[in-house]
Amino acid sequence: MAEAPRMPDETGVPEIEPYLHPVLKKNYGNWKWHDRPRPGVLHHVAHSGDEVWTVRAGTQRQMDVYTIRKLMDIADDFAEGYVRFTIRSNIEFMVSEESKVQPLIDKLLEEGFPVGGTGNSVSMISHTQGWLHCDIPATDASGAVKALMDELHEEFVREEMPNRVRLTTSCCQINCGGQGDIAINIQHTKPPKINHDQVGNVCERPSVVARCPVAAIRPAVVNGKPTLEVDERKCICCGACFPPCPPMQINDPEHSKFAIWVGGKNSNARSKPTFHKLVAAGIPNNPPRWPEVSAVVKNILRVYKEDAKDYERIGEWAERIGWPRFFEKTGLPFTKYHIDNWRGSRATLNASAHIRF
Ligand code: SF4
Ligand code: SF4
Repeated sequence: MAEAPRMPDETGVPEIEPYLHPVLKKNYGNWKWHDRPRPGVLHHVAHSGDEVWTVRAGTQRQMDVYTIRKLMDIADDFAEGYVRFTIRSNIEFMVSEESKVQPLIDKLLEEGFPVGGTGNSVSMISHTQGWLHCDIPATDASGAVKALMDELHEEFVREEMPNRVRLTTSCCQINCGGQGDIAINIQHTKPPKINHDQVGNVCERPSVVARCPVAAIRPAVVNGKPTLEVDERKCICCGACFPPCPPMQINDPEHSKFAIWVGGKNSNARSKPTFHKLVAAGIPNNPPRWPEVSAVVKNILRVYKEDAKDYERIGEWAERIGWPRFFEKTGLPFTKYHIDNWRGSRATLNASAHIRF
């Protein structure tokens, strides 16, 4: 008799139901209304009459085990033992009685966790992995976020922006990262430096050639060894060749620079989702506090807060006043690098499925 086929192991996202607060589980998909009694607190009322209060707090994002234990102790002692993390790594505690809200907030503040991030605030910045986990970052995205959120703390705990503000940070321009009202990412400005002694041993050369979006890489022989060379007139310094071929080093402390983009949005609320646009480039990659990046972001937020109408996201505000006015009001220089909107990039980037030499 044939053996029964082995069933595949399911390794996808786990079922959330076992981890839900009992009030959320009981009233799943059956909520009547909600409001925000104060910044950082959501209040939901179900058709059954059940109520639940959610308290949102910011963390330093990259957490050690002691911090996680501390947060779990707070959940056990002050919040009925249930937590969840938002997509931006805020932690949320749920309680089913209003009387538990203030003691929970007091404890979080006492332990140094700001309560906020809801409504029209600057919520926690989402960021990519940076030096901690990735092998190709040009900066430490989580460090830049920590430094910036330290300075934007007041905008996290208040809801005083015209609309919600979602910031994102990426430590390269080719892989993870996302659209944001303000997006901070890193750009390389010089072609890769090639260690010809190592390329032949380390890199699968055809796949490196195929990765270049502008067909700037071709096989070569240097000192009798097989290697690769780059046509620097074509190279757009994207960094796509570096991950599959580390001897093509493109990270550079001086020439890898921060850039800031504005006006991206994922949601469909009130207007269509949009791509963000470049507004500042060539900003120094200056750890551990990246003060030049913080200065530009804070300036954009200040002008947006003063000038936008209620409920306008940053991109909607810039579209209404016009991008020339955006540059005037923020005082950011408008240069030739801002002109291309990449609509014709299929042709100008020489993109093709063919490998050319
Ligand atoms: S953005 Fe790029 S460098 Fe940063 S974690 Fe993602 S792949 Fe790595
Ligand atoms: S950095 Fe980008 S454009 Fe330049 S050679 Fe590498 S893959 Fe091609």
